[in-house]
Amino acid sequence: MFKSSHSLTIIFSILLMACSTDSNGKNTKTTQRIIIHPGEARFILFDKISSSGKLTCRDKEYKYFDNGSQYGAFIAESYFSEMNDFDCILSDDKTSKIVASFNVVKKKFPEEKLKVDSRKITLRKKDQIRVAKEQEVLNKIYASSASSPYFQTSFMAPLNSHITSIYGIKRTYNKQHKGQHLGTDFRAAIGDKIPAANRGKVVFSGDLFYTGWTVILDHGLDIFTVYGHLSKTLVESGQIVQKGDLIGLSGNTGRTSGPHLHWGVKIVGQYIDGIDLSEHTKQFYKE
Ligand SMILES: [Zn+2]
Repeated sequence: MFKSSHSLTIIFSILLMACSTDSNGKNTKTTQRIIIHPGEARFILFDKISSSGKLTCRDKEYKYFDNGSQYGAFIAESYFSEMNDFDCILSDDKTSKIVASFNVVKKKFPEEKLKVDSRKITLRKKDQIRVAKEQEVLNKIYASSASSPYFQTSFMAPLNSHITSIYGIKRTYNKQHKGQHLGTDFRAAIGDKIPAANRGKVVFSGDLFYTGWTVILDHGLDIFTVYGHLSKTLVESGQIVQKGDLIGLSGNTGRTSGPHLHWGVKIVGQYIDGIDLSEHTKQFYKE
């Protein structure tokens, strides 16, 4: 008796998981329940409704693209996640349906201590003005991504060298200033060749206070990759680059404690783990 009521409970829980209620109170089938950690992005595929539909996850609107018989989108979870599960909803004037449900799972990030130039920690007035100006330029760039993807293959890590600092590590600079590292650092000498992680459009090539000589690529769908501390950039804004194309040479410019490549990946305003994105997209594109 105990056994059969227990199995019934299990069956009932499975049914609950497979059904959800849309905004009109109708039950709709939820096809995807996805686990995501802070600082990760996941690719979702979902069925089409009308072409004017909006894709919203929490309060954020996401760009999505026509992938033949379905639509596709990359959904990102902030490093600073408040750890609440969420749904992605596709809606237009007439209808609304849940296309994916995300289960946010905790992740522990390690800590490290670093020593850098103190003038890159406590900024002088002229540097504060410079950083504010650069931020304005960057905000404009990050607000104008292409609406469809430039890429059709996975993202690759730009270097195979030893990773000297992982994404998400908590940092203490010069024994007092706390922060977190929202990119991946690769061991590189001055002058090593740096390739593009995927096909995209160069949207920035220049010198920035924190990341020194920097290249930023727009891959479409609000996905950007950033290559920092370069000794030289070899591309210009507006240029389309293929995955693997040479975009710059590694260096030691900006706020660094030695030569290396800083690789950042930004999706819909959030810096996420590029190594995780590379592994995830390899699975998706079956490479
Ligand atoms: Zn870095």
